[in-house]
Amino acid sequence: MTEPTLFEKIIAREIPADIVFEDKLCIAFRDIAPQAPLHVLLCPKVPLKMLSEAVDGDGKLLAHLLLTAPRVARLLGYTEGFRLVVNNGSDAGQTVFHLHLHILAGRTFDWPPG
Ligand code: AMP
Repeated sequence: MTEPTLFEKIIAREIPADIVFEDKLCIAFRDIAPQAPLHVLLCPKVPLKMLSEAVDGDGKLLAHLLLTAPRVARLLGYTEGFRLVVNNGSDAGQTVFHLHLHILAGRTFDWPPG
């Protein structure tokens, strides 16, 4: 059996986190090293490693995550725009191998991203 990831431990309440939203399918908590005034990680509760491992059967879950992200931003008072980031794989900067959407808001963002 593989060792549970950090985010599985947060979902199981084995590690503390500042949880800002939760429903049956997903959980959102503040990033420990925020890159913007709002920096929340939105994760499915099932341990999907990364976006590229998703299959057709994950479609509803992925749609749910995309629909939930603006709700979380709004819930926390950020109505003027936000950026979603998914780092897929270590070359893209993924460090925790449990799919998560970074929800960033509260400042302007450069393009192209670094
Ligand atoms: P990524 O690099 O896309 O895999 O994102 C992982 C994110 O998890 C980084 O932004 C980290 O700052 C964040 N992180 C690491 N440990 C924790 C933790 N214990 N609680 C909340 N966020 C964390």
